[in-house]
Amino acid sequence: MTVSSTFSYADIVLAHQRILPYIQATPVLTSNTANQLSQAELFFKCESFQTSGAFKFRGACNALLQFTLEQKARGVVTFSSGNHAQAIAKAAQQFGMRAVIVMPKDAPAIKVAATRGYGGEIIFYDRYTEDREAIGRQLAQEQGLTLIPPYDHPHVMAGQGTSAKELIESVSSSAAALDYLLVPLGGGGLLSGCATAAKALNPLCKVIGVEPEAGNDGQRSLRSGSIVHIDTPNTIADGAQTQHLGTHTFPVIQQHVDDIATVSDAQLIDTMKFFASRMKLMVEPTGCLAAALALSGALDIKGKRVGVIISGGNIDLSRFAKLIQDTEIN
Ligand SMILES: *Cc1c(COP(=O)(O)O)cnc(C)c1O
Repeated sequence: MTVSSTFSYADIVLAHQRILPYIQATPVLTSNTANQLSQAELFFKCESFQTSGAFKFRGACNALLQFTLEQKARGVVTFSSGNHAQAIAKAAQQFGMRAVIVMPKDAPAIKVAATRGYGGEIIFYDRYTEDREAIGRQLAQEQGLTLIPPYDHPHVMAGQGTSAKELIESVSSSAAALDYLLVPLGGGGLLSGCATAAKALNPLCKVIGVEPEAGNDGQRSLRSGSIVHIDTPNTIADGAQTQHLGTHTFPVIQQHVDDIATVSDAQLIDTMKFFASRMKLMVEPTGCLAAALALSGALDIKGKRVGVIISGGNIDLSRFAKLIQDTEIN
């Protein structure tokens, strides 16, 4: 059996102890306007305020902190469209390791610059014609680096799950438990970890993954019972342009996730505008996936207490301005 068959909440508790000295305690924010719009009580876990600008720093820290001395001496390699790359580069820098990052050449400029700024060595590839996993594996073999993939790894999944653990712990101390937890979905590292934490802390909490309409492979996988592969989806949610769930993440998602929903790019833009104008939050398109579902009215959450993961906030100012402006004209 795969390692993920033994993946459990205990891994998330251990991960949390391990990474706590290094991560930010991200805020849980509420908004009266959001509650009115959704007719629910929404609790936004703002991982846009996490170190390196997204939850990915949690998984990266949890993985690198378990390296042996020999692995640490040789360094880490990964492939990523951005936030995982920054997280690995930042964590490696903090722990005094070399980091090699395989990144698409059309990755957002802010993510490339940030990765370089953290001391990451970048190797570019073409996301439409080349296989990033093969490139990563080859580098690992040639240079003795340890490959830490962006989502399909139990240490990464456990680290990401600590965001839901924190959210549920902070919300539950004030009042009743959450009825729903809504989580952005790419390859499922975040969703598998968060669902495991949610079901352990509150078995009645419904967990819903949210992915871009253009790339609904996760929804099709959950409904069909086997991992569906798709072409790189065309969506502004660049952190969720994954082609398939992972062999580690999928069984955990099958076990703990109640459903997977989709939202359109237009809904993501509306949500970015909402966060900026109403809550003074800068959230990247992928970071808006779960919130877009909550605000869309497509899910019946009337009168419910709903946890919403805002997964990241890394976006070029110019791109942010353009996305918002393009829909302002009417
Ligand atoms: C990576 C990422 C996701 C998707 O996470 P997975 O673990 O691949 O499902 C969602 N939002 C942001 C901001 C990300 O960087």
